[in-house]
Amino acid sequence: MRRIQHFIDGELRAGTSGRSSDVYNPATGEVQAQVDLASVAEVDQAVISASAAAVEWSESSLTQRTQIMFRFRELLAGRVDELARIISSEHGKVISDAAGEVARGLENVEFACGIAHHLKGEINEQVSAGIEVYSLRQPLGVVAGITPFNFPAMVPSWMFATAIACGNTFICKPSERDPSASMLIAEWFIEAGLPPGVFSVVNGDKVAVDALIDHEDVAAISFVGSTPIASYVYNRGTAMGKRVQALGGAKNHMLVLPDADIDMAADAAVSAAYGSAGERCMAISALIAVGSVADELVEAISTRIPDIKVGAGDEPDAEMGPLITGEHCARVAGYVERAQEAGAVAVVDGSQADVPKSGFFYGPTLLDRVTPEMECYSDEIFGPVLVVVRVETFREAIDLINSNPFGNGTAIFTRDGGAARQFQHEVQVGMVGINVPIPVPVAYHSFGGWKSSLFGDTHMYGPEGVRFYTRAKAVTARWPDPSSSQIDLGFPRNN
Ligand code: NAD
Repeated sequence: MRRIQHFIDGELRAGTSGRSSDVYNPATGEVQAQVDLASVAEVDQAVISASAAAVEWSESSLTQRTQIMFRFRELLAGRVDELARIISSEHGKVISDAAGEVARGLENVEFACGIAHHLKGEINEQVSAGIEVYSLRQPLGVVAGITPFNFPAMVPSWMFATAIACGNTFICKPSERDPSASMLIAEWFIEAGLPPGVFSVVNGDKVAVDALIDHEDVAAISFVGSTPIASYVYNRGTAMGKRVQALGGAKNHMLVLPDADIDMAADAAVSAAYGSAGERCMAISALIAVGSVADELVEAISTRIPDIKVGAGDEPDAEMGPLITGEHCARVAGYVERAQEAGAVAVVDGSQADVPKSGFFYGPTLLDRVTPEMECYSDEIFGPVLVVVRVETFREAIDLINSNPFGNGTAIFTRDGGAARQFQHEVQVGMVGINVPIPVPVAYHSFGGWKSSLFGDTHMYGPEGVRFYTRAKAVTARWPDPSSSQIDLGFPRNN
């Protein structure tokens, strides 16, 4: 059985804790590897290595860091297919989708190639006679990233690219369900010339996460995953005095107004609800149909669903793969069953779909006449299930979205510019699409939700990522003529 180890101090390290976890091929349901789960002592080894590396790395020039980042970018761009295949085999998503995630991760690396521009400070000359004030941004030291299963390459890229380019050393704790992407990235960084210890991977579960949070030499924690764990990591990390950004779960609403182009809205809803089997934090999982649009929209979506090709990620024509585990598949099926018992109408029932019998497949599901009290609306299902809530007015639709505890992404479909403007202004959600169903910001903006989709003050990657991974220093400087020196015990005043 293939064994997935740790990557510490620039090399593979076999786990010594005696604990490991199964890594499945979700398309067959078979265990394909065992991943070592780190002990507290193994996390400590990674932190010792990262702390030692941080001394030189934080002193490296912007030119050195940028050249390595450019070389890494070239390696990654040339190996998208290799990375996509390993992601697909452990996560289940189809290879084209996995390649898309790598491409978006690559954008974060490209942003980091321009780090010199983003680290520019500011200066005021002559704030007082002969005095300048300038601000600098300096790295934090060792920082850690804890990542979810659903984007095993892109989400780590949101963190490590900026963290490393800013002069920090980075320890990645990937999801134990699909850890191989991070291991490949670690090897490719060494090939690109990154010194050992600047990028490490500790595989593990709660033991490793807690050890990273509690370690006094880890300065900051970036987390992406479900809301309960995000809240836990944020509270435990900030109680330790660390900087923490913890991104949580989502229930993303797509609002469709009666004037929308129905075919365009239906295409968008199908793509955003069922792509990656709905296991995306920006997936559309609730469709809010306003007024007369509902019947026509539900009909247009239901006629598209049978054409979705469900199959193993490496089948050339497959469009939607399996779910991550058998347990998760059963959880999704339970939601769909209980939704019908509660009065929702299964226009398309994924449990009846013609999907491969081996593996963790569940067919695309469309539930109509869902009401906000139903569990299938209030919970993040994280599967290929789209629920339709019918409302009478635009006002009701906005109020419904704003009363939801999550606030990650949302989208409006309309031809009315005034309505779109009102929506973007009033909606209490961090990322908004206007006729764009999955509004993931480009790498030079920043990613983050509101409310229980994000704990902390800074969004991830882009300009806010640079601020998260650096701390500001303000310098007040005077280079006086020695002949003007005198004693003055008063508080310094500007004049
Ligand atoms: P998860 O919360 O189960 O796991 C995330 C990470 O936390 C993993 O590395 C895991 O090992 C670790 N972890 C799990 N249980 C823990 C515990 N009790 N204590 C400490 N650490 C623990 O999430 P997941 O199932 O891997 O990913 C899916 C979730 O992530 C969904 O809720 C999805 O919405 C969310 N997500 C959010 C975003 C975003 O940007 N907001 C992006 C991707 C995924």
